[in-house]
Amino acid sequence: MNIYNTLTKKVEQFTPNEEGVVRMYTCGPTVYHYAHIGNLRTYIFEDILEKGLEYLGYEVVRVMNITDVGHLTSDGDTGDDKMELASKREHKSVYEIADYYTNAFFNDCAKLNIRKPAIVEKASDHIDTYIEMITKMLNEGYAYKSGGNIYFDISKARDYYKLSGKNPEDLFVGVRDTVEEDTLKKNPADFVLWFTTSKFENQDMKWDSPWGIGYPGWHIECSGIGGKYLGEYIDIHCGGVDNIFPHHTNEIAQSEAYFGHKWCNYWVHGEHLNDQSGKMSKSKGEFLTVTLLEEKGYDPLSYRYFCLSSHYRNQLTFSYEALDSAENAYKKLKNRIKQLDRTPNLSDKKLDFYQDKFKEAIGNDLNTSSMITLVYDVLKDEELSDFTKLYLIDDFDKVLSLSLIEESDEVSQELDEMIRKRIEERNIAKNNKDYILADQIRDELLQKGVKLIDTRDGTTYELI
Ligand code: AMP
Ligand code: ZN
Repeated sequence: MNIYNTLTKKVEQFTPNEEGVVRMYTCGPTVYHYAHIGNLRTYIFEDILEKGLEYLGYEVVRVMNITDVGHLTSDGDTGDDKMELASKREHKSVYEIADYYTNAFFNDCAKLNIRKPAIVEKASDHIDTYIEMITKMLNEGYAYKSGGNIYFDISKARDYYKLSGKNPEDLFVGVRDTVEEDTLKKNPADFVLWFTTSKFENQDMKWDSPWGIGYPGWHIECSGIGGKYLGEYIDIHCGGVDNIFPHHTNEIAQSEAYFGHKWCNYWVHGEHLNDQSGKMSKSKGEFLTVTLLEEKGYDPLSYRYFCLSSHYRNQLTFSYEALDSAENAYKKLKNRIKQLDRTPNLSDKKLDFYQDKFKEAIGNDLNTSSMITLVYDVLKDEELSDFTKLYLIDDFDKVLSLSLIEESDEVSQELDEMIRKRIEERNIAKNNKDYILADQIRDELLQKGVKLIDTRDGTTYELI
């Protein structure tokens, strides 16, 4: 598989640390509000990446955090606490806010066929891990204490700007004008690992620590949770492009300081969904959620189709006209598939051909529009029986997850039943010493792309 690596700024061949296993970390949502469909574009891309890797034969161990503490309204260390603001706005405790919006997030994901990662962990459940990491970084001189807060000293990091590829001047122009300067820092880019001097006196989420009662900075949660569940080497780390700086830059700095070696080899970032006036945000313009799309009569999967039609590294502009045409194409496609004849007849040996092409599309930096084109190619191919088309589309849909076939495992199940019935008939023929019929059944299945394998425990099959 080839994938674009933000760290090296090129498309590279992907090789995991352990053969056949991919350790993947994806930054999760900050649960102070509903996710907008821009956020969900990033989760759709990560879902396709995970399922694409599985299609290529990898076992994927995927972890996601839930940011329920420490994310301030600025991506730096200033501004208000997003969770506290929501708690005031909705007259609920921060814990109620976190639970409510975490559920809402996974409900939206389910509507978009985004699979919930196997390991999902709340930031607030791992305070001991952060304290242990920060203590080590303090002892080793990567962090310092100033005015009660603990800061990471970026001058100690190995090549702090390697991920963003920018120089410090670029990154802080503009920011300086709008962000109140934290005079406790040695360097303006140093970031907080642990806050004790908080301006949020009534903050609900706070814990005891060796440095006083307080709460963790935003970035440490991903290094802590990633390290705890994936070990000290990660293969792929994902997020939206806005996470490159400062969040992922800071994750690298503190993880490499803590572990003492390179942490993650591939950094993969999804481009943004924009609205007509620029980057979509929760505070600007119409707040576009999955629920709003449903209220307007759209099938959420039309939005998934819309996202998959463009490459994850291209910016995508949302408009209702664009969504209308995606919905149109998606509905038409589903209709065409619905009309295919479901009579079991796996008549073709082009399965490999199409499955290889599908793998190529995945391996070509996750080319989702080519994957969709392949569905159309299969539908058009007159050499394929309808059943074979259904079989292939069902197979591709393991990655695309567009619910292209209503009951998605129906085809494979029907096929399996058909083959098992034929194996049974062949067994009866063999018992009757009717080897001609037995061989006939075997050859007939082989012609349909099904190879029988006789073992001591009976006959199994593989699709060729
Ligand atoms: P947040 O809940 O704000 O932490 O964001 C969740 C994810 O959405 C992060 O990976 C962001 O990079 C991503 N994100 C934020 N805005 C957009 C956008 N307009 N388009 C695509 N992804 C976004
Ligand atoms: Zn993160």
